[in-house]
Amino acid sequence: METILFLAHTEADGTLSKAALETLSAALALIRELSGASVAVGLVAADDAQAAADSIAGCGAVRFLAVKGDDFATARYATDATAAEVLARAAGATLVLAPATSRWARCLPGVAQRMNGRADTHAAAVAVEAGAPAVTRWYYRQRIEGVSRRAQRPWFILLEPGSCPIQPCPIQPCPSGQGLASTAVEHVPVAIDDRLRRTTFAGWRAPRTDQQTIRPEADLLLVAGAGWTKKQADGQTHPADAERLILGFLKLAQASLGGSKSLVDLSGEGQAVLPFMTHLNQVGQTGSTPRHPKGLATCCHGEEPHVVGWRFINQRRAINLDANCGWARGKADVLYVADAFAVMERLNALLAHEREVVSA
Ligand SMILES: Cc1cc2nc3c(=O)[nH]c(=O)nc-3n(C[C@H](O)[C@H](O)[C@H](O)COP(=O)(O)OP(=O)(O)OC[C@H]3O[C@@H](n4cnc5c(N)ncnc54)[C@H](O)[C@@H]3O)c2cc1C
Repeated sequence: METILFLAHTEADGTLSKAALETLSAALALIRELSGASVAVGLVAADDAQAAADSIAGCGAVRFLAVKGDDFATARYATDATAAEVLARAAGATLVLAPATSRWARCLPGVAQRMNGRADTHAAAVAVEAGAPAVTRWYYRQRIEGVSRRAQRPWFILLEPGSCPIQPCPIQPCPSGQGLASTAVEHVPVAIDDRLRRTTFAGWRAPRTDQQTIRPEADLLLVAGAGWTKKQADGQTHPADAERLILGFLKLAQASLGGSKSLVDLSGEGQAVLPFMTHLNQVGQTGSTPRHPKGLATCCHGEEPHVVGWRFINQRRAINLDANCGWARGKADVLYVADAFAVMERLNALLAHEREVVSA
């Protein structure tokens, strides 16, 4: 019989993130299929975690456990690992399901080691196969899908954000009939000494939001290829126009920006081409495989961005001058054989007009 611990840290405002709610939904789906299984909630929070627990009061968890304190306000390996360990032990967990946030991805494999358990990261799904939990994940840069089961317990599973739909928790009204039920949170004591506090949080350093080009929650991924920096019909390159059009589109559409390897490598060499592109933008076999509902590839020919980088994009369109671009033809639902400079200019004008009409 499995005892599942849904493990989550609260956000700065005390709520649970979308990724956490997805993981909770996966845990609840598991107990529906695993006979005799139960789920406990384990929260790590700076405050008392009451609001977060109340927000999922109707989820059917048998226990709501929490560790609280200022030490858990921000990510830190030593304190996060300690919190996860005490929660897993307090719950008697055989399975620990956590969202694959950077915070948990950093420390949970270490916690599994401490507890003589096992950890699987980058899980894309958890289901029941032959009466036992099984994890699905991708191998070889999202080209091979594997399903595995383990006998070793506790088994820590980190579920990739965006891979499981959120199921709304049944709302449990207060006995008074007003609002949600107040959940009885059990606060688990945790000993944090100065040795665990050796790493301290100095502050945030992040790009200004209007400079932020990677937006995991965006509805659209714009993929920019090296064609933006190539000589155009007039025999000249037009990097300034490319920058204006791409950044203008991102701002108007609130899209996220991906880039081909050829394009981000150029920027890395310090050339005066699209300086806002970094290797973090790269999609493909040696880049990322983001999950967005829609994708638009521009001036991009490569196999890796189209085949692997777009792996999880649902609706895909491409703009390429070359009608014979095999990967755009083969992988896009719609290929516009056109000059991306002209198309994006017109698209931005239409989006700006639409915005004016809406705000008028
Ligand atoms: C082991 C390995 C791993 C790799 N991993 C990755 C990876 O993770 N990600 C990745 O991206 N690549 C990867 N590559 C490189 C990949 O094979 C391609 O070389 C690269 O993706 C090509 O980039 P591109 O399509 O932007 O550039 P190009 O191949 O130069 O294509 C430019 C395109 O722009 C079009 N174009 C030019 N001007 C215009 C215009 N005005 N309007 C419309 N279209 C225009 C051209 O027709 C052309 O199709 C990898 C390669 C190897 C060997």
